Amino acid sequence: MLASLLRLVTLWITLPALLKSATESPVMKKYHELGTAINVLPLNTMGALPTQNLQAGHFVGAEAISGERLASEYLGRRVACAHCPVACIHLGTLRLPYPKEPYFYKTSMIGYDHEPIFAVGSLLGNSDVSGLFQLLDEAEVQGLDVMSAGVTLAWATEALQRGLISTRETDDLSAGAVAGHRRGRTGSCPQRRASARHRQDVCGGHHLAQSRAADR
Ligand code: SF4
Repeated sequence: MLASLLRLVTLWITLPALLKSATESPVMKKYHELGTAINVLPLNTMGALPTQNLQAGHFVGAEAISGERLASEYLGRRVACAHCPVACIHLGTLRLPYPKEPYFYKTSMIGYDHEPIFAVGSLLGNSDVSGLFQLLDEAEVQGLDVMSAGVTLAWATEALQRGLISTRETDDLSAGAVAGHRRGRTGSCPQRRASARHRQDVCGGHHLAQSRAADR
């Protein structure tokens, strides 16, 4: 009983210091302020930002999709996992006009992190933040793992550029073509209501591989 009481008192005394170091030390504060997206620019400087299907490690549009820019121009709110004082989860605002209604907008909160940013950003040669958020949103809607989806699209983009596949199997997947990448994710799948697993395993490359094999 006394030991438990002592542990409780010790915890009560040390908790504020722990909380302070978890939220205010430089190594943690950056995750609250910018989130893991803070890694975009340093990795780009090091030549280690995955770019255009890993054909390069430096992306000229890195500044536009950096954590600093997203936080200053798009950040809508931060959230945290249960009881975590860091709150590293950053949600950006995606504001899209309704096609036929002037001055009406759909505003969505899009979660972003360093890996999803490069998966549908630099890896596709895309520095358009609205397009990047639309791709993140589309992956969420389709139930896809966004990193796997981005890597698959990046592969298809380079394969198209190199003439290994054609627009018969894809839409416009030229670098930075967000609309094409959005359509390309689902456009070739005959099973529109397929499971997320199907979309990832089959639409994520197997269809293209089959088409390519049929061409030979
Ligand atoms: S527990 Fe959640 S909010 Fe806290 S640092 Fe980890 S991912 Fe971020």
